[in-house]
Amino acid sequence: GTKRIKSALLSVFYKDGLEPIARQLHADGVTLYSTGGTQTFLEGLGLPVIPVESQTNYPSIFGGRVKTLHPAIFGGILHRRENEGDLQEKAEHNIPDIDMVVVDLYPFEETVASGASEQDIIEKIDIGGISLIRAAAKNFKDVLIVPSREYYAETLDILQAGNSETSIEDRHRFAGYAFDISSHYDTAIHGFFAPNSTSYKRSVRSGKELRYGENPHQKGWFHGNLDEAFEQLHGKELSYNNLLDVDAAAQLIAEFWDQKPTVAVIKHNNACGLAQRDDLPTAWKDALAGDPVSAFGGIIASNKEIDAKTAEGINEIFCEVVLAPGFTAEALSILQSKKNRIILKVKNIQPQEMIARTILNGVLVQERDYHTDSREDLKTVTKVAPTEAQIDDLIFASALCKNTKSNTIVLAKDGQLLASGTGQTSRVDALRQAIQKAKSFNFDLNGAVMASDAFFPFPDCVEIANGEGINTVIQPGGSIKDQLSIDYCDANGMSMVFTGHRHFKH
Ligand code: 5GP
Repeated sequence: GTKRIKSALLSVFYKDGLEPIARQLHADGVTLYSTGGTQTFLEGLGLPVIPVESQTNYPSIFGGRVKTLHPAIFGGILHRRENEGDLQEKAEHNIPDIDMVVVDLYPFEETVASGASEQDIIEKIDIGGISLIRAAAKNFKDVLIVPSREYYAETLDILQAGNSETSIEDRHRFAGYAFDISSHYDTAIHGFFAPNSTSYKRSVRSGKELRYGENPHQKGWFHGNLDEAFEQLHGKELSYNNLLDVDAAAQLIAEFWDQKPTVAVIKHNNACGLAQRDDLPTAWKDALAGDPVSAFGGIIASNKEIDAKTAEGINEIFCEVVLAPGFTAEALSILQSKKNRIILKVKNIQPQEMIARTILNGVLVQERDYHTDSREDLKTVTKVAPTEAQIDDLIFASALCKNTKSNTIVLAKDGQLLASGTGQTSRVDALRQAIQKAKSFNFDLNGAVMASDAFFPFPDCVEIANGEGINTVIQPGGSIKDQLSIDYCDANGMSMVFTGHRHFKH
């Protein structure tokens, strides 16, 4: 539960920002222990400090390499406050209580980045500080660990709010910060010693082993916690490829989560069907119509609870996974009739903030593309403006574009995906693929809208689109030849809007 801090050990490299914390602790009657430099700093502020040496009866030795590494200090942190034996031993050995530890580690990464000599870098491998962090975090039940100056502001808030009282939730959360700091620190040191090793390999292999990777001769693992994202109600274990498709399906349906009934059919990470309707069974029927051939073995995602009628429709085709916020009892029993079919009830549709993928012997990381084009983003660049109904379709198609492999062109009409070109090496190819596909399923492209994930470098796409009766276009804009596309649209009575946001997905 809640604990009052009675004594704290402060040992920090950068002293900046420590003052208000030290003053608050002092005002709350907390005994302060400290190491050499930090002690001098606190005394300079006029605060009473007990040097660790007077507790260890040992001086700081070897140029500071051994300062706090002593049973009196680590015992003070690690003894179990509710354990009679521990308390007896503590008294026997005259070990003080340490209820809070504030550490700011030697700046290892900064030293490496500064181009310092190897010897200087080695000296910046913090030994005592990292041990203090680990010890205090391990004993979070009784001890608050502040593992870096990054957390001073949050610490001060807690101390001020409770006059140096902390809750178990606070201490647990800070223990999490502590191991984040310590693992990152050691990873940086590892990177210095073994710059060419792919350090992610060891941790990646400790993930959950999958039956195999993308192909049967490849091993595969999953890292993370699927239970946070959804509850599996039925079916076989998710494979590597299932997980990739489920991710794509969840991200796509998340775009329409709070909107009217929407169903998506995903195949190889791209949508082959998507429809938004007033009722779910119709949304399913029209999503399937987008490409009933590709839908075979696909993944189906719905933004609404799946009812019996929709389930009956889905049950007519072979699909690997059905994902929805819920299922009626009847729908569930219909879908469960296929033993292997995976049924997922979505708990949390929010995808992760960061995306990572490996390249060569490194890892690329980026923020997720959180921008969904909305009415406010649209800038009409042609003489003719799209109608309200066309604007709905433009936004619908653009959200789909964002979730489709580049280069992509999406053709849509009346809240339905007619066809898309996916992952093509040229935008014209993507458009040609979409047109040919839409026609093969007997869609009439007259009055359809066209969305592009990136700008048109030439007017060829609007020319081809016009030839098919597609008369409204959404694209980011930004090509030096934008005007050629705009002029063509104006000469042919087409409307076009710019969004200002490119949505590459490679
Ligand atoms: P101070 O400036 O107070 O003398 O030293 C603070 C720094 O020493 C902090 O960065 C802390 O992580 C580190 N530190 C604390 N105890 C030890 C120890 O026993 N050995 C080493 N190498 N560093 C320590």
